[in-house]
Amino acid sequence: MNSNMTDTGPIVDVRKLTVDFSTGGGKTVRAVAGVDLSLKKGETLALLGESGSGKSVTLRALMRLHPDSARFGGSVNVDGRDILAMPYGDLARYRGKVVSMIFQDPGLAFDPVYRVGDQIAEAVVRHEGISMQEAKKRALGLFERVRIPSPERRLDNYPHEMSGGMRQRAMIALALACRPKVLLADEPTTALDATVQIQVLLLLRELQRELGLAVIFVTHDIGVAVEVADRIAVMYGGRIVETGKCADIIRNPSHPYTQGLLASRTGHEAVKGSRLVTIPGAPPDLSNMPPGCPFGPRCKYVMDRCKTQTPPLYDVGADHFAACFLIEQQAASQSQLQSA
Ligand code: SF4
Repeated sequence: MNSNMTDTGPIVDVRKLTVDFSTGGGKTVRAVAGVDLSLKKGETLALLGESGSGKSVTLRALMRLHPDSARFGGSVNVDGRDILAMPYGDLARYRGKVVSMIFQDPGLAFDPVYRVGDQIAEAVVRHEGISMQEAKKRALGLFERVRIPSPERRLDNYPHEMSGGMRQRAMIALALACRPKVLLADEPTTALDATVQIQVLLLLRELQRELGLAVIFVTHDIGVAVEVADRIAVMYGGRIVETGKCADIIRNPSHPYTQGLLASRTGHEAVKGSRLVTIPGAPPDLSNMPPGCPFGPRCKYVMDRCKTQTPPLYDVGADHFAACFLIEQQAASQSQLQSA
């Protein structure tokens, strides 16, 4: 581990990531098509998009959680080591200790036949080689930290004896048990009711600040992304189509897809007085991607070149980028105006 490098540089550095899956009959689906991401210690990035956009597949690449049939390209550096090139023995040590994950469904994290407290303590013993007694003390401290009521008693619960919100808090405790540097959260509040969702989001934000964690948060809800993140990366068709600071994206959404997400978000008004709208059409079929811009078939601004060329990410300013030819066009008209 190269701690000097990561003290100053990004703790997560993803370059040109591609993830392909075989679907049988010799066909391959590219679920992630050249993603670049970087994240510093103490930062939260939201990966935002509809289902099938590639956000969860990208997230899972940070722990190499895909089936063996997945084929990766590019690199995924976490705390100075490339996860994609890591031998399995090292990977098992990295998972939990350096990078950890909260799932949408706590059932994926907890075994239903063991007590929750024992499962957390065992994870600590396995990774850190401390005694079971010390590990149980840590589990109790974590339950207190995630504000599970009557924590001592709750440690003896089986997963089914806890409510959804409490299981989610217990899963956060499990994810933090080995003091990871990077926390990944895959739609962790989607299955919860609105009040519990807000409590869990606030808790995550508080823990992230207290512990200086780098957090990558996957969500389909732009309201949630704005609530938890410093930066947003909007994904569509396996690509990042817009990325920037939350405030910049809300103030100046530059990709038509992001504009659609903002205009259709519930509970908020994207533009004061505007009516709630939805994005027409459906997300692309990854096994049959259209040529050119992946958003082309749903885009009201589509031009001829969009049907054959894939737009790169254009600089919109202040670390804000968007993959749309309109930005190049607007920049060209502005420079014409200036030189006239
Ligand atoms: Fe729409 Fe073309 Fe921009 Fe794609 S590149 S979002 S199709 S205008």
